[in-house]
Amino acid sequence: MTYDLRSMLPEELADALQQRRQPAYRAKQLFSWLHAKHVRTYEEMTDLPAALREELAGEFPLTTVRMIDRQISRDGTEKYLFAMPDDSLVESVLMRYHFGNSICISSQVGCRMGCTFCASTLDGLERNLMPSEMLEQIYEIHRVTGEPVRHVVVMGTGEPMDNYENLVRFIRLLTHEKGMGLSRRAVTVSTCGLPEGIRALAEEDLPVNLALSLHAPEDGLRQKLMPIARRYTIAEVTAACRYYYEKTGRQITFEYALIRDVNDRDADVAALSALAASLDAHVNLIPVNPVRERGYREPGGTEVQRFKNKLEKRGIHVSIRRVMGRDIDGACGQLRHRRLHDTNQ
Ligand code: SAH
Repeated sequence: MTYDLRSMLPEELADALQQRRQPAYRAKQLFSWLHAKHVRTYEEMTDLPAALREELAGEFPLTTVRMIDRQISRDGTEKYLFAMPDDSLVESVLMRYHFGNSICISSQVGCRMGCTFCASTLDGLERNLMPSEMLEQIYEIHRVTGEPVRHVVVMGTGEPMDNYENLVRFIRLLTHEKGMGLSRRAVTVSTCGLPEGIRALAEEDLPVNLALSLHAPEDGLRQKLMPIARRYTIAEVTAACRYYYEKTGRQITFEYALIRDVNDRDADVAALSALAASLDAHVNLIPVNPVRERGYREPGGTEVQRFKNKLEKRGIHVSIRRVMGRDIDGACGQLRHRRLHDTNQ
């Protein structure tokens, strides 16, 4: 695998420059231009010799994203559609919370996990994103808004554990003190539940937050909602989560998209609270965002609240994901999906 310059770890940049007979401090300058100052071009790297910049430019085109669309919601949420260097389209979201800005990025172009409620998977997987392409979604939003980034969630299109090596590199670069320097606690990775990936991440010494997209507390129902559940049982996935929790000390979050008359029954409350209690997990309820192509219905606000109360009575910590930016778009992946298909509708 050859990486572009913005995907290279500091020691790899140092190697690349050493091969070009450059002094060691050049690698530090270059890393800072790429990851702290977020330049788009070699011309901006004013303290590097022109000959070196030319040489690098010939060999390593700088990975940058182009903004194709930006929608701003009344509640301050912003949805971005970015084109990658090969014109692949990717969505990212900026959410403004009282604690600061949170950016949700995509980890793949499309997705092959096939969750039945999710728009991101409707067109299948096109390819993995490079670490630089994940970082650039954040850097570009930072360039455009000029606002500090407090939190990054890998919850956009794609399954991060299906692009594992690039995900880990991305986290290392994002949390590097000479780059954006985000704390590892300020990063959350959401997965549909690939146990090998969860266990591997636990070994990386990168204690980021882990969210498991559970969505159903028993295997039969989960298999109907999420094809991945036919490959791994809930017991297998939660065992990996337990390992992650024990190894990193980070509390696990269960994501639970509440779907009317599907996973909102009393039996679900009982099974979900037993699972959450056994793992000391936090439950995040998301009223399902109806996707035109799927036909799941969203529960009303009072039903969501009632479901939450029932879980809390059983001692579970629960939050309800605030519905943000509904006026600018529907569910995850819809902006891209529409852009891909609008021409023939
Ligand atoms: N592949 C990863 C991350 C991407 S999806 C994962 O599965 O976790 C981010 C979250 O949004 C997941 O919990 C996903 O299940 C949820 N999601 C997808 N479509 C949704 C919809 N229509 N309504 C509510 N949540 C949805």
